Amino acid sequence: MKIEKYIRDIQGFPKEGILFKDITPLLINPEARTNCLKILVDSLEGKKIDKVVGAESRGFFLGMLLAQELNAGFVPVRKPKKLPYETISAFYELEYGSDSLEMHIDAIKKGDRVLIHDDVLATGGTAKAVCELVEKLGGEIVQCNFLMELTFLNGREKIKEYPVFAALTY
Ligand code: AMP
Repeated sequence: MKIEKYIRDIQGFPKEGILFKDITPLLINPEARTNCLKILVDSLEGKKIDKVVGAESRGFFLGMLLAQELNAGFVPVRKPKKLPYETISAFYELEYGSDSLEMHIDAIKKGDRVLIHDDVLATGGTAKAVCELVEKLGGEIVQCNFLMELTFLNGREKIKEYPVFAALTY
């Protein structure tokens, strides 16, 4: 089964010039989802993971499933003012705009082995900010993994000090 069949291209969303990669057809199909999860888990080659950190909001879907599969904790990284407890923040740039991201201060313990997950690696700004948050709390980044990578945006360069895996590349 080819998982790329379940990624839908939406031209001009959320604004002109963006080719949006819609993962909802994949989320809706249990077989495609299971297949995708297996590819992402296999890429870790049995490495132990204590926490999976997912970036708001599309990193939560498979991030949570990955955490369950790996018997790891799940940590949500959210947009500003969404998390109720004390937070740390990091600034980032998007393919469309800029913002900051936050994580609870007790989400990662020093020495935790961390997998970072998001749906798309585009310019790498989001992933870089998530890495910063994890390292601020003393976590060790084992891998950054993505459902897909938009290689022409060169996001890998921003997170080149970490192992990066993408199930699909465009
Ligand atoms: P970036 O920080 O540029 O690597 O952008 C990655 C974040 O923006 C991810 O959380 C994606 O969900 C979202 N994103 C960026 N570009 C796209 C795209 N072309 N299609 C879908 N999501 C995107």
